[in-house]
Amino acid sequence: MSVDAQSTVFLDGQFARELPELAVPWQAEQAPDPRLVVLNEPLAAELGLDPESLGNAEGLGLLIGTALPHGATPVAQGYAGHQFGSYSPRLGDGRALLLGEIADAEGRLRDLHLKGSGRTPFARRGDGLATLGPMLREYVISEAMHALGIPTTRSLAVVATGRPVSRESMLPGAVLTRVASSHLRVGSFQYARAMDNQDLLRRLADHAIARHHPGTAEGQNPYLALFAAVVAAQASLVAQWMLVGFIHGVMNTDNMTISGEGIDYGPCAFMDVFDPATVYSSIDEAGRYAYGNQPLVAQWNLARLAEALLPLFHEDQERAVALAQESLGAFHTRYSAAWLAGMKTKLGLADGLDDESATSLTGELFTLLQEARVDYTSFFRALGTAARGEAESARSMFPVPAAFDAWLERWRALEPDADLMDRTNPVYIPRNHLVEEALAAAVDGDQEPLSRLLAALSTPFQERPGLERFAVAAPEGFGPYRTFCGT
Ligand code: AMP
Ligand code: MG
Repeated sequence: MSVDAQSTVFLDGQFARELPELAVPWQAEQAPDPRLVVLNEPLAAELGLDPESLGNAEGLGLLIGTALPHGATPVAQGYAGHQFGSYSPRLGDGRALLLGEIADAEGRLRDLHLKGSGRTPFARRGDGLATLGPMLREYVISEAMHALGIPTTRSLAVVATGRPVSRESMLPGAVLTRVASSHLRVGSFQYARAMDNQDLLRRLADHAIARHHPGTAEGQNPYLALFAAVVAAQASLVAQWMLVGFIHGVMNTDNMTISGEGIDYGPCAFMDVFDPATVYSSIDEAGRYAYGNQPLVAQWNLARLAEALLPLFHEDQERAVALAQESLGAFHTRYSAAWLAGMKTKLGLADGLDDESATSLTGELFTLLQEARVDYTSFFRALGTAARGEAESARSMFPVPAAFDAWLERWRALEPDADLMDRTNPVYIPRNHLVEEALAAAVDGDQEPLSRLLAALSTPFQERPGLERFAVAAPEGFGPYRTFCGT
């Protein structure tokens, strides 16, 4: 690629072309003094972008949408959504833009998208802006997810705009450049359905099929097959979140993708001590999106997707509802199977163990973990060491280890595979206190802690000397953790 970052990049406008009813052409706001805070060089290379030229003035213009290649058609996407259970017919990209689609090294189309790029017609009372801390937070969490092998949108860069943004205090403004296999959400279908235009709904579904689930186009009922594919992708995603102890925090239908990638990491966090009722988000007062509720919420959201798709399932709406219910029923089966298989792997137990024994073994373990308020991530890693014969670090997590000892004996008799456990149970996750520390320093102009954290998280399963403090729970003084909606 030449030094001109934007002149050689081709950005397609497939979404804008095929679904103009859902796309408002719009431009990103100029930034007074853009400065690159973090760039994802491996991801840039995947997209055929030269990391070095992304750092110059023109490259920054591409990253924040102010200097786009000729012919690019940035749009604000329209979508609806159930937020904490109540329906908003018109949300949309209030402070975001889809710049277009870019083909990656494997020829797959990826969305290039901005967050914090200024007000759009969907902004309602918002200022259209984003601040540096929350954008870095999304960068850290999404890249950690990717390194953990969990489907997610990616973060290409965070650019500080040089514009102060008014929140509780004045904060530095920033734009996140996001990459995703698409930004189609459950809420996109709710929005299209509400327009009462079956042709639009069909075009949206065809677009989703072509982009994400092309295999479903061949079947007898492609739209029902699309729905089944989304059910399967989300069941798998949420099982992976649960296994790694992740709490999304704001699983509204506008924050649930059709691709099965996790998206919109605002008030999310990784659980420290094991407790299904864990909620970190300050706005989730009723605990709707608590750790243990996530599978149910995902299924609830998918029911909203089914409602939006009903006219495409069958002409006879009663028949359509029956088909939708049957298909949605697969969520529970798929989720449970994925979770249990993942749990067996976390425990180092290969295929030999029957599901009933695995269920009782994990059930008993979770009771012990919850009672003793054990750190979820550290425990599973220590259990890998116990599989090698050194059980003390796992035992020491229980104030009264007698009950755990009994469990340990039963589990050891099954001959767990320690190597499998180390490949499955991360040492390094974005622990809340480390994320806060890194973001606070970066906002103050010191990027060292952020770089070190990102480096630790990039290889989460391989323990390395010198990174001890990234592997342990928060110090007592950190106190109870609260997250705030990323604004
Ligand atoms: P989120 O909670 O980030 O998923 O956003 C929910 C909705 O609020 C989306 O429609 C966003 O575009 C919109 N939104 C959030 N923050 C702002 C802001 N500062 N300005 C305009 N719209 C916003
Ligand atoms: Mg959102």
